[in-house]
Amino acid sequence: MDLGKLIQERIRDIPDYPKPGVMFKDITPLLADHVAFAGVVDSIVNHHGRGTIDKIVGIEARGFIMAAPVAYHFGAGFVPVRKKGKLPAATHAETYDLEYGNETIEIHSDALEPGDRVLIVDDVLATGGTARAAAELVRRSGADIVGLSVLLELSFLHGRDKLGNLDVHSLVTV
Ligand code: AMP
Repeated sequence: MDLGKLIQERIRDIPDYPKPGVMFKDITPLLADHVAFAGVVDSIVNHHGRGTIDKIVGIEARGFIMAAPVAYHFGAGFVPVRKKGKLPAATHAETYDLEYGNETIEIHSDALEPGDRVLIVDDVLATGGTARAAAELVRRSGADIVGLSVLLELSFLHGRDKLGNLDVHSLVTV
């Protein structure tokens, strides 16, 4: 079966979660299907090619699940971006606006080195605020961003428009 079709079949829509008006894209059925999960990991690695990436930056929390096997198959290291207060050592932090309030994410300030070739990985690109903040954290570390790979892009939220000339690779766009 076509991978894009399989991915769409394995992502479940949960209306009004975590709050009214949000259609939550639940990727757990996809993760539970080894053909779909392996297809996603291989597809991200093949898009860029082994040996082209030094570090995979995964975004808490579902991004971690995808980013770790992607890092392994690239032959790259894994670096977490987490919500404020979760990382134990010194961090860089970025705050961005949400519909209500704001969010702060952090990266260990010594996790990346200048010149590291970095791919950011997450499950869903929605409004783009999280990805933009993660990209800013990578830039502040002096590393080079190769791009952003996501499983699913919600194009009606125009997240891509927030990301300037960042190379955005989505396996499925709705
Ligand atoms: P955003 O900053 O709006 O692009 O949101 C991206 C982050 O929020 C990602 O880490 C996603 O995991 C999560 N997210 C946003 N919207 C959804 C959605 N409709 N379904 C599942 N996850 C979402």
